[in-house]
Amino acid sequence: MSTSKPRVVVIGAGAFGGWTALQLQQLGARVTLVDAFGAGNTRSSSGGETRVIRAIYGPDRIYVEMVRRAYELWETLPESVYVETGALWMMHGDDGYVRSSVPILHDNGFAVDQISLDDAGKRWPQINFAGLKSVWFEPRAGALSARRACGVVRDLFVKNGGTFRIEAVKPEELIRSGEADVYVFACGPWLGKLFPDVVGDRVRPTRQEVYYFGTPRGSDRFSAGRFPIWMDFAERIVYGIPDVNARGFKVADDTRGEPIDPTTANRTPSAGGIARARELLAQRFPELKDAPLIASEVCQYENSPDGNLIIDRHPNARNVWLLGGGSGHGFKLSPTVGELVGQAIVNGKDVPAAFALGRLSKVRNETQFERKS
Ligand SMILES: Cc1cc2nc3c(=O)[nH]c(=O)nc-3n(C[C@H](O)[C@H](O)[C@H](O)COP(=O)(O)OP(=O)(O)OC[C@H]3O[C@@H](n4cnc5c(N)ncnc54)[C@H](O)[C@@H]3O)c2cc1C
Repeated sequence: MSTSKPRVVVIGAGAFGGWTALQLQQLGARVTLVDAFGAGNTRSSSGGETRVIRAIYGPDRIYVEMVRRAYELWETLPESVYVETGALWMMHGDDGYVRSSVPILHDNGFAVDQISLDDAGKRWPQINFAGLKSVWFEPRAGALSARRACGVVRDLFVKNGGTFRIEAVKPEELIRSGEADVYVFACGPWLGKLFPDVVGDRVRPTRQEVYYFGTPRGSDRFSAGRFPIWMDFAERIVYGIPDVNARGFKVADDTRGEPIDPTTANRTPSAGGIARARELLAQRFPELKDAPLIASEVCQYENSPDGNLIIDRHPNARNVWLLGGGSGHGFKLSPTVGELVGQAIVNGKDVPAAFALGRLSKVRNETQFERKS
């Protein structure tokens, strides 16, 4: 494999598959990218307006290092899909998650500052900091344009000579066709159904609602540039992104929702979810308490049992790779995921054992799914 140029079909043009196709192409492979609905489509986990990129990852050094590399790779795209806003971590209780990241962040060149509640109140008068124990600010964090980024990656791949086609792939038929030497299935929330024996509910899609509230007329007080990404870290983690590209002030609850079928799910937001988001607005961002809901998205996380990514070969087919398990935090990492897979396929490099499927064989279905997002 390392001496000839492999022919590779990548199935799935979401963040993971798109970047994998691009990286494979840059390493000299002949690549075809296939998707059932299109790059970053609205049913996929990479659809929608924006995703957070941040480096605070608790004690998980591996992800901080992946984020560092991801920043470099995101910048290689022909158009920018990133806006830096900084991220404000608002902690109600134990802030061990942030503290445990600090030395790892410093090792990787990321700054993070603890800010007193008084200072935070002066710096962001739009926020009510009452009830919080500590506040941390990560200056380099920001927002990635999600669906648009998938399109930019796909377009670059095609411009560089790659083939992209719309097709709903049946794995056995495609592999039997002999179209390629290697097949990479980056099928997000569909991965479990496509490989019921090997993946099954080790990728469990859950319904996640995202709301956009209208910002005050004639004001950029809640827009990127003047307002940061924020995480309200209580028993529920609720987070948001300031207005980017005039879409609205984003609010989302990281709590895992109901199981969802990504193909057929009804994507109308729930009254209960909207009401909870509004409660948080009233408490934390009082100027927005009556802001109109101007848009919404119903997406799904594709959760692995331990919240870690899945990047591995199929145990019974060495030329078949399975990628997924983004678990609510995969988007930012996708360039690095693509690079890892590309290097493994073209140059035979190892993928970290933390992402091996085998680690999940002991995990039982009823296990509480862990979150890293
Ligand atoms: C609401 C929400 C908020 C999130 N927030 C963040 C965040 O702030 N930061 C962050 O880093 N991550 C975040 N994530 C997670 C991140 O977006 C996902 O982990 C990531 O986008 C997953 O990408 P993927 O390529 O694995 O899957 P997908 O984007 O779902 O791509 C899979 C693709 O495979 C295609 N496909 C499936 N089956 C077939 C088939 N049989 N034939 C052909 N094509 C097929 C689909 O059409 C789809 O396009 C969030 C996710 C959601 C839903």
